[in-house]
Amino acid sequence: MQIENDKVVAIHYTLTNAAGETLDSSVERGEPLAYLQGHGNIIPGLENALLGKAAGEKLDVEVAPADGYGERHDQLIQQVPRSAFEGVDHLEPGMQFQADTGAGVRLFTITNVADEEITIDGNHPLAGETLKFAVEIKEVRDPSAEELEHGHVHGEGGHDH
Ligand SMILES: [Zn+2]
Repeated sequence: MQIENDKVVAIHYTLTNAAGETLDSSVERGEPLAYLQGHGNIIPGLENALLGKAAGEKLDVEVAPADGYGERHDQLIQQVPRSAFEGVDHLEPGMQFQADTGAGVRLFTITNVADEEITIDGNHPLAGETLKFAVEIKEVRDPSAEELEHGHVHGEGGHDH
């Protein structure tokens, strides 16, 4: 069965950056990632590359930032006063929180903590990165009616509800 829109696809993948560092691997987690093709469950560059492929195929996919997690935007790195985190006892780099930017809710990561000012970054951690995926397609199947209605996969490697 070939991968086309509305098929459930299970893949094993290892993601490395341009420097060759492994960023993420379903192989290490021991469970394939399952997604619904054509529903934006995974980044566009990877989804497009998998279209038309079949179970058992292996492929290497290079994804430019625009087809991945976007370019980095310097204006999304901001200094805010510590008072903006009133009521939060402990602040440290790596903590994440959601904030409404006026152009929608965005996930921010604290990147630096100083006495007076906190540096926050609203870029996705992988923004600006060229991503390399080594993919093995494990399974291609038809979705259940419920999966199609929800726009994502249920069960192993998918949503658990
Ligand atoms: Zn669901």
